[in-house]
Amino acid sequence: MHRDFAHVKRVVVKIGTNLLSNARGIDAEQIERMAANIAALRQQHIQVLLVSSGAIGLGARLLGRSSAVRKIALRQACASIGQPLLMSHYRLALKKFDLIPAQLLITRSDLNERRSYVNLRNAVENLLDLGVVPVFNENDVVSTAEIGTAFGDNDQLSAFVASKTDADLLIILTDIDGLYTKNPKKEKDGRLISEIEHVDDAILACAGEAGSTFSTGGMKTKILAAEIAANAGCATIIANGGKKDILPRLVAGETLGTWIHAAKRMSQRARWILNSSAKGTIKIDDGAVRALYNHKSLLPSGVVGVEGVFRAGDVVYINKIAKAVPYYSSEEIKAMAGRQSADMVRILGTPKRDVLFRPEDIVFLDPVKEEI
Ligand code: GLU
Repeated sequence: MHRDFAHVKRVVVKIGTNLLSNARGIDAEQIERMAANIAALRQQHIQVLLVSSGAIGLGARLLGRSSAVRKIALRQACASIGQPLLMSHYRLALKKFDLIPAQLLITRSDLNERRSYVNLRNAVENLLDLGVVPVFNENDVVSTAEIGTAFGDNDQLSAFVASKTDADLLIILTDIDGLYTKNPKKEKDGRLISEIEHVDDAILACAGEAGSTFSTGGMKTKILAAEIAANAGCATIIANGGKKDILPRLVAGETLGTWIHAAKRMSQRARWILNSSAKGTIKIDDGAVRALYNHKSLLPSGVVGVEGVFRAGDVVYINKIAKAVPYYSSEEIKAMAGRQSADMVRILGTPKRDVLFRPEDIVFLDPVKEEI
């Protein structure tokens, strides 16, 4: 299909660690190229939000480490050493184009919590109005995988930023040309996939796991990121950031990299449910599954089990088919499981709704089945 990005007004650009570093450390020329690319988009009145990795790698090199940094405490230290260095490179490079960067360090919970997310969104809009270039990174000092608050990789973070700021295009820049049918670093007969209409298992199978010393992501995380963006009505291009004038060329519709189409834009509420980490699972029987797919309400009689501890209003899984926000806590649902609606007042002590969720608070993980 012809690539037409003439409508694009807001782009999120993710730059990976591998792209930013060379054998000696940070690749200052690459950062300068990026600054020139960003300036070119700004000339076309396109807003650019940057998501840049590289803090941990920069910090590690300054400490004289050459192997992967796995220990959490050391990752935290490297991130806090490397982040100001990273920003000073962006500041110097963007200055040549009279552009000012702003640093935004965020965690997954900042985006999950409505209040902090609204605050963040206002701050971003304000920065963009001021003509500033927001530069995001994960706040690796406070958010670690151990406490479950991490995005884990900046591919996902960039997709969430694109989704939350209603960007029209997410560009993930890396050091290879896009998604290949086979890993081009290992096999010769791989072919570049230039267009993906819908991410499915066959596409995910083409994407291997993470690769290099300091970066976290791989092709798989990029494809998963593109899926998150697609649900927000945002297209993604995965491309080689080492290519000349890559950003303006991509926005002009040149056939470079892998373009993953946008899907139908889900509501903010549905995206929030889909993108939040689930606190537990409500297990339901086959009859209830069918009812759910037919957009009928889920009653306590269809519940066969509850896993995890959650409060009313938390996001949970329903089997593995949907994510939803229940009216009730895990304790209450456990007490009601398998019972008839008429028994609910007796069980809970207070009259409450007999359905477990509002229909708009259920989001199916596989939209194709939903149409059955
Ligand atoms: N936040 C990490 C850093 O700045 C990068 C994570 C990733 O590689 O995706 O070093």
